[in-house]
Amino acid sequence: MSELIPLSAPDITHAERQAVADVLSSDRLSIGPRIEAFEAACAARAGRKYGIGVSSGTSGLHLCVRSLGIEEGDEVVTTPFSFIATTNCVLFERAKPVFVDIDPESYNMAPGAAEAAITERTKAMLPVEAFGNTAHFDAYERIARQRGLAMIEDCCEALGGVLGDRPAGNFGDCGVFAFYPNKQITTGEGGMIVTDDPAVRDLCVSMRNQGRATEAWLSHARLGYNYRLSESNAALGLVQIGRLDEILASRRRAAALYDQALGKLADAGLIHMPTMIHRDKASWFVYVIRLADRFTQTDRDAVLAGLRAAGIGCNNYFVPIHTQPYIMDMLGTKPGDFPVTEHVAARTLALPFFAGLAESQVERVAEEVARMLTCSGP
Ligand SMILES: *Cc1c(COP(=O)(O)O)cnc(C)c1O
Repeated sequence: MSELIPLSAPDITHAERQAVADVLSSDRLSIGPRIEAFEAACAARAGRKYGIGVSSGTSGLHLCVRSLGIEEGDEVVTTPFSFIATTNCVLFERAKPVFVDIDPESYNMAPGAAEAAITERTKAMLPVEAFGNTAHFDAYERIARQRGLAMIEDCCEALGGVLGDRPAGNFGDCGVFAFYPNKQITTGEGGMIVTDDPAVRDLCVSMRNQGRATEAWLSHARLGYNYRLSESNAALGLVQIGRLDEILASRRRAAALYDQALGKLADAGLIHMPTMIHRDKASWFVYVIRLADRFTQTDRDAVLAGLRAAGIGCNNYFVPIHTQPYIMDMLGTKPGDFPVTEHVAARTLALPFFAGLAESQVERVAEEVARMLTCSGP
């Protein structure tokens, strides 16, 4: 079999390895200078005053929910077309995720549907930049402001992206980035809250560190967690964010290679290209194509199986959250509730995508996709 092409791969250089080794030779393995520097770099990138480093994107979202006072019974308007953590962070606090369908052009929550879903119990909006696409974030922010709602931006897939002249992470009360190894930059595991609100910042700083009130290590002011980010993770992140523009440029280059290689399939009406806006400045998280409407989920799954058999990493981003079994049990949702989300989710597939992707690899993937769609399609 020919060479395997992974779905994703981190972009780690000697500088990252050295920075982590330096931490291991120091006497500060947690709560030290690297986390502060990494926080400042992420806040600057989001045009925010404060960054709060945490153990994951999920823990960052949870702390945002808590620090905005979202409680049992409160409704949070969000998208079913996302990674599961977007919904889980609301459920952790026994608040109620209220799903609204997505816009078929952007795959982000449809702004009109979001506004229509607001009730007197709605406390917040929690939109997501699906695959890094920043579309509609100005509209969500306007709606949240007009209706007196809090807004958390789940920008875990959008670090470095822009909407007009505003960076991802700049919308609403607070935003959260994530640094799992498949994200644009990684800390192994890690996340970052960004905000301009000093009260949110203080609460997040306390709650990530066991609810500590002050420097007094055994004085606890509130219920807290251990959601800290270690110095070695932060050191890795600090080098990575210093390289962010370079990494994003490589990813845009990889996306442009795919745009070129798959254009014929789109022209032939076999696939829809990724929906990303601001393509020349975008932050690409994954490269996701959608099969034409006449294909079924079974056809899509056959393409995934065919690609995998050919040694090509791929995945079905996302399974709609409202169709996950435990979510159906907890919230009473069911297939059919959000037809646009389900139509899109049945036909999308993520192709191998990372900074060092070679033109020859892109060509091999495109040939395999073409072969699957023209030989076995309807
Ligand atoms: C990656 C991601 C998260 C958080 O992931 P962690 O694995 O907890 O760091 C949250 N939301 C979205 C949309 C994501 O893609």
